[in-house]
Amino acid sequence: MTTTIDTSTLLDWISRFRDAVTEKREWLTELDSAIGDADHGANMTRGMAAVVEKLDGGAPATIDELLKTVGMTLVSSVGGASGPLYGTLFLRMGMAAGAVEQVDSAGLAAALRAGLDGIVARGKAEAGDKTLFDAMAPAVDAFDVAVAREIPIADAARGAADAAAAGRDATLPLVARKGRASYLGERSAGHLDPGAASMAILFETLAAAIAGAS
Ligand SMILES: [Mg+2]
Repeated sequence: MTTTIDTSTLLDWISRFRDAVTEKREWLTELDSAIGDADHGANMTRGMAAVVEKLDGGAPATIDELLKTVGMTLVSSVGGASGPLYGTLFLRMGMAAGAVEQVDSAGLAAALRAGLDGIVARGKAEAGDKTLFDAMAPAVDAFDVAVAREIPIADAARGAADAAAAGRDATLPLVARKGRASYLGERSAGHLDPGAASMAILFETLAAAIAGAS
């Protein structure tokens, strides 16, 4: 059973995320049509296609450079809020991991936490604002708790994915307080947040990549 994450597992994660947002493009667009500007499916699909194309041209050997490439490509290829936010997530993860070829579960936990902190610094989102934070924060918390309990990394990642999905579902009744959806006020209630939906996909594919490496 794997106890570390290396660059090939991260590349598999990125590739799975690209596949999943492409497959769920219409759903993400539908969610964003209800409370946003209907571009989230297209944005995530275009951004991740650009990322995979960039990495196919030669993937960096260290985790910091790999994740920096992902982040910079998302920032430069995706407009709206999601490009800078997802870009920041990967950039901060890379900085936290450093110039290494693999991280253990504590290292991955620290990188995910740094990514979350970067999103908070950038978007000023808080719990219950109906943003991607509402899926990511419980996932990072669950991963931290699992790592502290010395739960195997694949199980920790599975728990984080489940927490992200629960966080996504919990955005359904919320009234948006951040982003374009907040302009709708009470009418934003009754819809899942599209950013929380794509964030849950990010954690689902992370769990799948780690399980695949086990
Ligand atoms: Mg949008």
